[in-house]
Amino acid sequence: MVLTGANAVAAPAKVPEAIGYGGAVASIDQDATAIGISVLRHGGNAVDAAVATAAALGVTDPFSNGVGGGGFFVFYEARTGKVYTLDGRETAPATADEKYFQENGVPLPFADAVTSGLSVGVPGTPKTWQTALQKWGRLSLKEAMKPAEQLARKGFTVDQTFQTQISNNIARFSAFPSTRELYLPGGKPPAVGSTFRNPDLANTYRELADTNLRSLYNGAIGREIVKTVQQPPKDPASPLNVRPGRLTLQDLSRYQAIPRDPSKASYRGLDVYSMAPPSSGGTTVGEALNILETKDVRKLSQVDYLHNFLESTRISFADRNRWVGDPDVQAVPTKQLLSQKFANSRACLIDPNKALTSPVAPGDPYNPKPCATTGPGGTILNDGMSTTHLTTADAWGNVVSYTLTIEQEGGNGMVVPGRGFLLNNELTDFNFAPLFPGVPDPNLPGAGKRPRSSMAPTIVLRNGKPFFATGSPGGASIITTTLQVILGRIDRGFSLVQAIAQPRASQRNSALAQVEPAFLALPEADVLAKQYGQGFNAAAAAEIGAATGVERLPDGRWIAAAEPVRRGGGSAAVVFPAR
Ligand code: GLU
Repeated sequence: MVLTGANAVAAPAKVPEAIGYGGAVASIDQDATAIGISVLRHGGNAVDAAVATAAALGVTDPFSNGVGGGGFFVFYEARTGKVYTLDGRETAPATADEKYFQENGVPLPFADAVTSGLSVGVPGTPKTWQTALQKWGRLSLKEAMKPAEQLARKGFTVDQTFQTQISNNIARFSAFPSTRELYLPGGKPPAVGSTFRNPDLANTYRELADTNLRSLYNGAIGREIVKTVQQPPKDPASPLNVRPGRLTLQDLSRYQAIPRDPSKASYRGLDVYSMAPPSSGGTTVGEALNILETKDVRKLSQVDYLHNFLESTRISFADRNRWVGDPDVQAVPTKQLLSQKFANSRACLIDPNKALTSPVAPGDPYNPKPCATTGPGGTILNDGMSTTHLTTADAWGNVVSYTLTIEQEGGNGMVVPGRGFLLNNELTDFNFAPLFPGVPDPNLPGAGKRPRSSMAPTIVLRNGKPFFATGSPGGASIITTTLQVILGRIDRGFSLVQAIAQPRASQRNSALAQVEPAFLALPEADVLAKQYGQGFNAAAAAEIGAATGVERLPDGRWIAAAEPVRRGGGSAAVVFPAR
């Protein structure tokens, strides 16, 4: 199957909800969604559509994701009724150790680490696409990447979000001529409404496809990535102190996208599948759901619901921070964190009349005892608001929930010269020093290790069949947003798109929950603040999480649902609309 530019890029109007037959795609971008739909229309399945949509997002949403980054791919296979996942997380170089982000025993300032060669992990996204297509797709890598290559070559219309994301990064983008030339033509961000072309990226996509990725994992592109990391291509006139990194071609050549068992939580008779470690998404959303299973969330008043929601994630983040890291490097109690017995032992901490004081201490999932805690509790608030989530479904009933990222908005700020894509700064998701002296920290850097993520691409099954799938961008708030969407859809009477649109609050075991201004405007926010002494931090984020999702209706139609407003609004479409 060959998709031509003409049939691949007929972008429909940007709408947040679409209903119909034949399959569905929801992403943050109109061109990317249109490409996914075109793939479905030409006989591709949900996996093909997900890869093609992701490749297009690498073109139009390049500050959130791309071939220089990584992500987690969750797939429901209709034929077997099973859920599979791929861990496409970036990895640290073989020379990394616990002190990787320290100088003379002192952790680097976070911002210095972000814009550095040190922060770059081996990109996992291209390998994820290849592995997913080989295992479950109908298209070749070449076919799946072709429409995005054409989009990069022909160009797309710059919108406000694209321009704003460049403006947010002007200082560091200016420091690298390769980034400056691409994203600050004439010294400033491209105008809204202008056409943006990225022929270097188009050529990179073609080379990746033509070489079946060898160029990146064992060839010319790989060598150029390594050179960019080891000798950051900085303008000598820039005052930025940009540390080089240690990634080698051997690190790249060793990379694999790892098939892992999904995380699974049972919630009110539904099965909630998501990403297991090294992402903390599945275990943390799952533990919070198990905690909330002990309350009847459907029957709670809006105030009591929000209180319990906030407390459930406050507690599950305490456990996440203590126990979750790369399971291939140390033992992670995935099963225990997801056990109902453990959740019960944690739920008993919730006071119906009062907010807990953070940091709450973790529990011991190996030995759960009611209300018992162990060791000190930690708060980690370094996460950004970047990343992108897409969701696809097809006529056969397959579903993909896929979250991908280059970590911070704009990654590490370096476009690989002549290649048209930004590198990730994913390794800054490691803790730079142990959270507490003497307490094992599962998320310290290590050789070939994958940093802990929060990405939570989720698929919810009812009687073994897809009910809905969702996921979100937003650093560690991915977890709270995904949970809020799940609860909104299952318990609070919202449609999927309404659940995605709800005002957000995110409590991650910090003194104050982070909230959107719209959340503060809710009457319940006042009550929560007074009755529960629950403080709010409205300054940190104007927007939390532009989620997307798909839902299967009993009559076989699909609903595609995207964020209506945040990040300029997403794009939902189906193959054959039928309201
Ligand atoms: N690096 C983050 C994670 O894996 C995502 C980046 C972000 O959304 O800011 O959890």
